[in-house]
Amino acid sequence: MPYHHATVDPIVAGRVLVYDLILSLMISRQSLTDLRLHETTSSSAKCSQQGLLESAASDTTTAMLAGQSSDKWDCLSVTPPVTMSSSFKQPGPGPSASKACVYSKAGNPSRNTLEGCFAALEGAKHCFTFASGMGAITTAILLLKKGQHMVVMNDVDGATRSLFSKSNKMDIEVTFTDLSVPGNLEKSIKSNTKMVFFETPTNPVLKVIDIAAVAKAAKSRGDIIVVVDNTFLTPYLQKPLKFGADVVLYSITKYLTGLTDVVMGAILVNDDIIADKLKHLQCVAGIVPSPFDCYMVNRSLKTLPLRMERHKESALLVAGWLDMHPKIVEVLHPGLPTHPNHDLGKRQMSGHSGVFSFRHCGGLKESKKFLYALKVFTLSVSLGGYESLAEIPWLMTHAFIPEKERLALGITNSLVRISVGLEDVLDLLEDLDRALRIAFG
Ligand SMILES: *Cc1c(COP(=O)(O)O)cnc(C)c1O
Repeated sequence: MPYHHATVDPIVAGRVLVYDLILSLMISRQSLTDLRLHETTSSSAKCSQQGLLESAASDTTTAMLAGQSSDKWDCLSVTPPVTMSSSFKQPGPGPSASKACVYSKAGNPSRNTLEGCFAALEGAKHCFTFASGMGAITTAILLLKKGQHMVVMNDVDGATRSLFSKSNKMDIEVTFTDLSVPGNLEKSIKSNTKMVFFETPTNPVLKVIDIAAVAKAAKSRGDIIVVVDNTFLTPYLQKPLKFGADVVLYSITKYLTGLTDVVMGAILVNDDIIADKLKHLQCVAGIVPSPFDCYMVNRSLKTLPLRMERHKESALLVAGWLDMHPKIVEVLHPGLPTHPNHDLGKRQMSGHSGVFSFRHCGGLKESKKFLYALKVFTLSVSLGGYESLAEIPWLMTHAFIPEKERLALGITNSLVRISVGLEDVLDLLEDLDRALRIAFG
């Protein structure tokens, strides 16, 4: 099939080509190379073709240089050193100079270096890191007082949902609602509402929430803190503060580490008052990361833009291929023109990452057979690493949600969530193709 770059939607053309390659079982690496060559105009040209926000080219340089100056270190090391010391000698009794380290829980050279680089990437004034994504979320909730109320998107990470479902222990009132439906936020806001919390795209059904619209609605009703968990996209693909969010938070464990060997979280803000509270909470709640992990993540940030470009490209090809597969009934990937929030996504994202879900036409039996049959994808609950992963939210990440609620959320036993890694995309397609044949054979 000839490929006409100027007239054919590149996503459609890409998926038809890749699907044909597999279906005809003429899988040749040469063909895929041809496809890549056809598709490879510059990345920004591809973005504007698809009408996406362009990712800032300067992010690549920021990830390399921000806060990394050799002049900070006595030995002038090019790569920041890791400083494991938990305590620091003071010049004299009494308060120390503001930049100096005192005790690692309050600040450490390795942590400060990471936080400086991350803040620059996000375009945020302040960054605080935590021992896990959930540590960041717990600290964010500590911004609220007993008896206050928060509105939470009903489709969120399993651990987040579980924490909020039990957060009455902290005497915080929680309302879950679908924030992708206009008007739902307004209906849920009460006189004591102080926070709105959501992920976009959501987990695991990949709805896109209009950050600017939520922020505007929340601000029109008083002093309500708008929190976006941006774990699925990273600052490279979406910068929620630009659209009016007050707080952006992350499970760094996922894409920001990217190598599946660190558990960490972060909160980023522009507001100095919220920042002062977070700085205090980071130290006194004590949910801090180790200096070694900070060193590791600072290292990972250097390849973030490269990795995200690859995740974005491979996942879109895999999604397009699945979309054409006869056993797949629905592919929940915001980059597909068939996704209900595709246009909204273009206004606030510079593309989607590697994590998305799809629904096949079988049931639990087929889901299990499919997951057992995978060889390149690993059966695992996480996402965002170099390696491709697959899981079934029904039995794994979201299993604790009562069955009726799971079904209402669209979490059925035929919904599979995958995280497309950095492997050769053709190996991934072959693996999915083989596993689907076994599941439905
Ligand atoms: C994994 C994840 C979390 C929890 O982060 P941990 O680092 O595992 O504590 C929170 N939000 C999202 C969107 C996640 O994917």
